[in-house]
Amino acid sequence: MIYHKLLIAGPCAAESQEQVMAIAAALQPLQPIFRAGLWKPRSNPQSFQGVGAEGLKWLLQVKQHFGCEVATEVATTEHIRLCLDAKTDYLWIGARTATNPIVIQQLADALASYDTTSLKGILVKNPMNEDAKLWIGNIQRFSNALKDSDLPVLAVLRGCNHHPCWDMAYQLRSQLPSVPLLLDPSHMAGMADKVAPLCCQSAELEMDGLMVETHTQPEQALSDAQQQITPQQLLAIIQSLPSPDRSVPLSLRWLRAMMDEVDEDLWLTIRKRMEISRRIGEVKREEGMQIIQKERFEHILNRRLQWAQENDISPQTIKDIYNALHKE
Ligand code: PEP
Ligand code: MN
Repeated sequence: MIYHKLLIAGPCAAESQEQVMAIAAALQPLQPIFRAGLWKPRSNPQSFQGVGAEGLKWLLQVKQHFGCEVATEVATTEHIRLCLDAKTDYLWIGARTATNPIVIQQLADALASYDTTSLKGILVKNPMNEDAKLWIGNIQRFSNALKDSDLPVLAVLRGCNHHPCWDMAYQLRSQLPSVPLLLDPSHMAGMADKVAPLCCQSAELEMDGLMVETHTQPEQALSDAQQQITPQQLLAIIQSLPSPDRSVPLSLRWLRAMMDEVDEDLWLTIRKRMEISRRIGEVKREEGMQIIQKERFEHILNRRLQWAQENDISPQTIKDIYNALHKE
């Protein structure tokens, strides 16, 4: 075993028996828990919806053939029942299901009423929106319902709208320090190129594991084609993961990750502002208006100075920022 943390890898979706077996075979040097979605919660009803219960047989075959554990996503109590019958080792709750606490409670209650002795763990992804309270609450619903069993409940950070949302994970870590926290860089990034740097970040932040979408032919995948990497690429990533820099306190490393995320947003926002400025310039040119309207600029500045006061930022800083933006 190369990676000493929890590694979950496999395709976004099981597509055929051959595809599942080929990916599982290619992943064997890493000995991961094999993942494959069977019931895919897709936005578009015309796109591939997953193979459904039929894929459970293929997961069982992976288990028997490679001796590894397997994981799939559940969204209904019926999915849970079918997975338990098929001896699926890990179940995960997807980001879409995680937006509804009533459904989460139903799933937690269903699990509590079934014999879950063959199950190894429940993974709970963060919801689609950046809502730490909801994510923490969902995990508590499972932990409470399963308190009489030894079944571990784990958290998976998959971000929102391709933003990492490190702050949300940090809140979870602080409030539920005993819950293992994994990273899903695939859905977080939405693009294959960003998977490696995010895996490195998870190592630097001392997260407890990874769930990575892998496919032997990513470009032909029936779902999430742009974000899947090959098993060989995953092997290379795992082999080159950095050791965390323990000379820097862990909380500082997390805060720096949050700061980088905010700065990236800031640049995107500035870029968006520049683009709007350009369009304003076009309209003014078409209408034969002057480039600068003094009253408008003063009005903007006064409103922003008011915001500065409300947010405890010095007026001079705001003046400097707006003058610089305006000049640019
Ligand atoms: C998945 O893991 O394939 C998936 C659908 O993820 P998420 O719920 O994070 O979008
Ligand atoms: Mn996916």
